Order: sequence, then C-alpha cells, then structure tokens
Amino acid sequence: MTARLIDGKALAARIRAEMKAKASELLARTGRAPGLAVILVGENPASQVYVRNKIRACHEVGIRSIEKYLPATTSEAELLDLIKSLNENPGVDGILVQLPLPGHISNIKVIDAISPEKDVDGFHVESAGRLLVGREGFRPCTPFGICAMLDSIGFDCTGKRAVVIGRSNIVGKPMSIMLLERNATVTIAHSRTKDLPALCREADLLVAAVGRAKMVDASYVKPGAVVIDVGMDRDENGKLCGDVDTASVMEKASWVTPVPGGVGPMTIAMLIQNTVGAALRREGKPLN
Ligand code: NAP
Repeated sequence: MTARLIDGKALAARIRAEMKAKASELLARTGRAPGLAVILVGENPASQVYVRNKIRACHEVGIRSIEKYLPATTSEAELLDLIKSLNENPGVDGILVQLPLPGHISNIKVIDAISPEKDVDGFHVESAGRLLVGREGFRPCTPFGICAMLDSIGFDCTGKRAVVIGRSNIVGKPMSIMLLERNATVTIAHSRTKDLPALCREADLLVAAVGRAKMVDASYVKPGAVVIDVGMDRDENGKLCGDVDTASVMEKASWVTPVPGGVGPMTIAMLIQNTVGAALRREGKPLN
C-alpha cells in the first residue's frame, strides 16, 4: 500500500479563505476587524519565525495584529501588566503569548492571566476544563486542526482505536479528549509506555506528538492506518522533519500528514479561526 498525503497547506488555505469572508463581513457590519495581540518575549529564533508566520496569516485574512515585542529581560510583573491591559482593551479579541518564555517567567501565571474570553490558543485552564466536560470553548489549535484534517478525508473516528503518543497539555492530552469526543477508543502513550510499537500497531489512527525525529517507522503502523505527524524536529542534517519516518510509513498506512505542509499550517489556520470566533462570540455566536 502507498499512503496518500493529507495536504494541510491546501486545507489551511481553504479555512483561511472562509475566515477572511467572516472577518470582512464583521468589519462591514460593525466597522471593527477582529484583533489579535501577539506577545513575544526575547529573541528565540524559532519563536520569531512562528510569530512572523502567525502575523502574516492574520493580515492575509483581515485580522488586525497588535504586536508586542519585549526584551528577554522583561519581568514577570511587566508581562502580567501588559496582559491585563490587553484583557481590558475592547479592540483586542484574542491574546497569544508565544511560548517558551524566558526561565524567570512562569508559564502558568502568564496563561492564567489571559482572559478566558480571549484565550485563542486554548491553553487557559478554563478552556481545558470546557474541553474536558464537552462545553463550548476555545480548543487548542494543533489538535483542533488535526480534527479538521480527519474530517477532510472523511475519517469517522467512531469505534476506531486511536493511539496518541505524547501527553503534553497543548497537544497530546487535548488531542485525546477530542478523539474521545468523536467516539474513538483512545490510548495515550508516553515515555514510560511499554512496548510502544506493539501498542501503536493496534491503532486505526496514530497521532505522533513526541518531538523525536522520525521515531515512528513502519514497525509502529497497522496496515491501512491513518498517521498524523505533529512533530517539528530536525534530522541529522538539520533539515525540518517530523516524528514520523514518512517514507517507510507511507508503505503501510492509508493516509499520512507530511512535514512540512501538514499539521503546521493547520495550527495557524485554527488560530485564525479561534480569533475570528472570539470576535463573533462577543456578539453572542457560540464557538462550537
Ligand atoms: P512535549 O511537551 O515535549 O511532549 C512530548 C511527549 O512525548 C511527552 O508526553 C513525552 O512523554 C512523550 N515522549 C517523549 N519521548 C518519548 C518516547 N521515546 N516514547 C514515547 N513517548 C515519548 O512536546 P509537545 O509540545 O507536545 O510537542 C510534540 C512535538 O510536536 C514537538 O516536535 C513539537 O515541536 C511539535 N509541535 C508541533 C506543532 C505544530 O503546529 N506542528 C504544535 C505543537 C507542537 P512524558 O510525558 O512521559 O515525558
């Protein structure tokens, strides 16, 4: 079997086009474009690239960006003050703080400080709680984008065995809950899981969110499985790759997401969707 690639780039472009139409309708009706505040602390090169890409995507769809570039020496109190002022600013619908933060700043305090109404990354404990109990709310962009990719290939999770490798708060855990919500039978694997390849071979849907270049090879894959590669890693030559050894897995799976051009662009598309959703929610429209 040779797997087909799920084209995240093309799907992300379609979602951005839909969001552009909604943003321009909002602007025409209210005189106000959706606004996203983006905060970057320090000069981490990877974070600078992510922030640049997010801002570019915002502008393309008609979202106003409020950019705050702060030096690495910024104190936690200064950052919390800035978030407070953005929470109170009616021109701001969403607030994104690019992670990781410098070591002297607590991620938890910063995420807690963002108003749940503006939590477009979906990392706030209120958003996490809403997801867990199946209530309307902001969903974390990466797993949310993966669900849209599964829909795009007509993959019905009902009754399927899903294995998610990784239990981070931003990918693995919310992914597992979303798949459970879609009636999959979900197993969450992590670094202490025993005989991971055998467990993964039971999966109709395998999501790799590990952060280890090309770790998931064909020996992890059930014939015909759908394999989602969340990883953004570097191979031995420093080239961007995922957690999945795509060439070997393609021989066994039915669908695979490429890196680049898979989950990455979808994460940005869902940030855009959450931001437009945040603006519309202020007019009483539910997010989901
Ligand atoms: P993370 O917080 O480092 O979590 C990694 C998870 O993988 C942990 O739960 C860890 O287990 C598990 N793990 C590590 N080594 C393992 C092994 N050998 N076998 C089984 N499980 C193992 O990472 P993350 O933030 O979830 O991100 C995961 C990957 O996705 C990274 O490459 C990241 O760059 C990428 N990412 C991509 C996007 C995108 O938009 N494409 C977005 C977010 C993240 P323990 O909990 O036991 O330590």
